[in-house]
Amino acid sequence: MLENTEVDVRGKLTDDQTRCVHYHSDNDIIAIKFKCCDQFYPCYSCHEELAGHVAKQWPKNEWNTKAILCGNCRAQLTIEEYMNSNHQCPNCKLPLTRTAAGTIIYTL
Ligand SMILES: [Zn+2]
Ligand SMILES: [Zn+2]
Ligand SMILES: [Zn+2]
Repeated sequence: MLENTEVDVRGKLTDDQTRCVHYHSDNDIIAIKFKCCDQFYPCYSCHEELAGHVAKQWPKNEWNTKAILCGNCRAQLTIEEYMNSNHQCPNCKLPLTRTAAGTIIYTL
């Protein structure tokens, strides 16, 4: 799939699996595309510190957008796929954490 090619993830990354200075446990291998700027960041805090503008939440009717990136295999999931994934990447089967994604999807 073409969509699995390199994606530019911004933020304070600490490795190439999208862990960042804020979230870096074993399963924190996820990046989120922000609606406000169409850019992938590993977490809400990275966006807040680097983007220079207020983050926007994805409305439920746009959850078919590919806004979740698996930092391990680089598969892009829609928010809906991620929500239904049991926090496991459907492609590489690694567990994906909620911590980083939750800050943008659930709690904004
Ligand atoms: Zn933004
Ligand atoms: Zn971060
Ligand atoms: Zn994966």
